[in-house]
Amino acid sequence: MSNVAFLGLGAMGSRMAARLLQAGHQVSVWNRSPSAAEALAEAGAHVAATPHDAAQGADFVIAMLRDDEASQQVWLAPNTGALAAMREGAIAIESSTLSRHWIAELGSAVLASGVQFLEAPVSGSRPQAEAGQLVYFLGGDEATAQAAESLLSTMGCAIHYVGPLGSGAMTKLATNALLGIQVTALAELIGILQHAGVNADRVIQAMAATVVCSPFAKRAADGMLAANFTPQFPVELVAKDFGYVLAAAGSAESAPTIAAALQVFTAAEQRGWGDEHLTSVVKLFGEKAIM
Ligand code: NAP
Repeated sequence: MSNVAFLGLGAMGSRMAARLLQAGHQVSVWNRSPSAAEALAEAGAHVAATPHDAAQGADFVIAMLRDDEASQQVWLAPNTGALAAMREGAIAIESSTLSRHWIAELGSAVLASGVQFLEAPVSGSRPQAEAGQLVYFLGGDEATAQAAESLLSTMGCAIHYVGPLGSGAMTKLATNALLGIQVTALAELIGILQHAGVNADRVIQAMAATVVCSPFAKRAADGMLAANFTPQFPVELVAKDFGYVLAAAGSAESAPTIAAALQVFTAAEQRGWGDEHLTSVVKLFGEKAIM
């Protein structure tokens, strides 16, 4: 069993840390808002006052945070950052969905301090995190990836090593771009179908019988038609990821479809739906569109 520090106990991180505890690892947790650690403390986690304190003596330090800014604070902030507390040879694992640019910068800082570094973003949402069914995209040194594989398999059902640092971020961002574009296209199509007076539900069931419609697209469309927007992957996080994809593209002109989808998610955020599931963008277009 390993000594693990887990930093960031949001919707995903709290569930991932719980899996580590259930597997019998010794887990030290930290979250910016301390109340998020209460349930884990009851389940046996040690609650640390800072990322620095959590990382003391850890074999692995895992972060699951909102964005680049949060990652920078948690790993590198003077006095409280986790990195300065890590022993040489320990492994720092960044699992948040972040920009390629920031992963390169963070990786350099970590490796320069004698700590090993792995980027390990995940595909899958809250139910998959809870069930240990996440899909990992590992980037970095391959031997480090192998050293972390057994620990990560506590939280994931598939672990893909995709290449040197930055490859993990790009795999994750590409996956989310493909996911988000399907959602914006479906939202618009449901609006078009409903305004054309056809039964959108029947059309979706028929489309789902073709190879064109992915299992994810079917699930997303069903959620839109049922107006079930209980958050799993909220609009604001999708918008954040689309911003990172566009940054990697270099300009909106290089990725016009992705840029257009980002506009749709931004419009939903502006309507106050940032914390709803990403499928809530259908409210911009469907027959019950909110003007
Ligand atoms: P979340 O519920 O919004 O949690 C975000 C976490 O980041 C919280 O622990 C939050 O702390 C922390 N945080 C935010 N800003 C911070 C700052 N400046 N300093 C320190 N901590 C900060 O998000 P989530 O759904 O768990 O997602 C976490 C990461 O996984 C994101 O990068 C997301 O894109 C990615 N992801 C999400 C999903 C999904 O379906 N939700 C799936 C795959 C990957 P507080 O509690 O104090 O706010």
